[in-house]
Amino acid sequence: MNILVINCGSSSLKFQLIDAETERLIAKGLCERIGIDGSQIVYQPTGGSKEKKEVPMPDHTKAIELVLEALTNDKTGVVKSLDDIGAVGHRIVHGGEQFAASTIITKEVIQAIEECGELAPLHNPANLIGIDACRKLMPNTPMAAVFDTAFHQTMPEEAYLYALPYEYYEKYRVRRYGFHGTSHSYVSKRAAQVLGKAYEDLRIIVCHLGNGASVSAVQNGRCIDTSMGLTPLEGLIMGTRSGDIDPAIIEFIAHKENIGIDEIMDILNKKSGVLGLSGNFSSDFRDLEDAYLEGREEGVRAMKAFAYRVAKYIGAYTAAMNGVDAVCFTAGLGENSPLIRNMICEKLGFLGVTLDQEQNNRRGEDLVISTADSGTKVLVIPTNEELAIARETYALVGKNIG
Ligand code: AMP
Repeated sequence: MNILVINCGSSSLKFQLIDAETERLIAKGLCERIGIDGSQIVYQPTGGSKEKKEVPMPDHTKAIELVLEALTNDKTGVVKSLDDIGAVGHRIVHGGEQFAASTIITKEVIQAIEECGELAPLHNPANLIGIDACRKLMPNTPMAAVFDTAFHQTMPEEAYLYALPYEYYEKYRVRRYGFHGTSHSYVSKRAAQVLGKAYEDLRIIVCHLGNGASVSAVQNGRCIDTSMGLTPLEGLIMGTRSGDIDPAIIEFIAHKENIGIDEIMDILNKKSGVLGLSGNFSSDFRDLEDAYLEGREEGVRAMKAFAYRVAKYIGAYTAAMNGVDAVCFTAGLGENSPLIRNMICEKLGFLGVTLDQEQNNRRGEDLVISTADSGTKVLVIPTNEELAIARETYALVGKNIG
């Protein structure tokens, strides 16, 4: 069965068509600037050449129409008709406490996702638009919702509660949820396979280091803590997000700069992180690495603070699990930067970590990068959220049909 995986943002839409039985990627692409001037679709069938086309896309329905056309047309298409797409898997950012697992999309599920939208006002509405557009164009095709938060729903109360008046949890469900769950789940499971051990017997720390970044602690196959919270602002230093700060800074800066809460939140989300630390030099780790290697102050400051924060979380999660068997790196930076892995692992002497530099310099595959005598295993596992979404969708749809 072919599964269409859709990741819908407010003005963009990423898609992949995956053969669920063989797990082969059939085609992938991206629609950008939906609802804005200059919208374009990028489409690439596996083994074929990449096509870029500027086409007006006033809304997501038009974008999905173009995606389906690209997948089925006579020239570059990869399937004969829409009947060859067995199901659609949608990435949904926030599933609140309602969703601890992926689910088949029904009217009730759509309503529940709408309700969770209060917790992710930028993301869930865009995800819902994607669902709506697919329902219009493929009304008989089953669809599944796969939530970024679901994997973290196993966190115990002591890890997910904030030390705020308890009524805020009771009334508004203010608690830690965590994000990137599909990636943390995929990478931790894959790590167990690479190590040839049972998932249920391991204590794994996953460092998802990209533009957004988070760490999770996975003990005996269950997530017991993660660094993002009610929103993806908490935790690690990120490209443009501050991660953990003293909340009193908000009031302090508001008074000093004479600005309101909306502007402060914008600063914490879009102007902080390594961008802020580097004095607005760059939020892109490739630029920061270059600056670091040239000994430029902006790069050194940002990279050192970033690595320190990751190592601090690894220490905390080692304590939370009373030890750790494997530390895994994934996402854009985690997968591609031997330098940041070295900078972080240098701080893990207490775990007896030593890296095999030859392995650490390899790229693009599942790797054990620690030496044979390292006290703790260190791995690089390229994440594949789309494949994970296709697997979840296939499992649900197969179950439903069968
Ligand atoms: P993601 O959000 O997972 O796509 O990751 C994006 C981040 O990964 C950006 O900050 C990129 O600069 C960083 N990144 C991608 N490739 C490399 C690389 N070869 N070396 C260092 N950082 C990289």
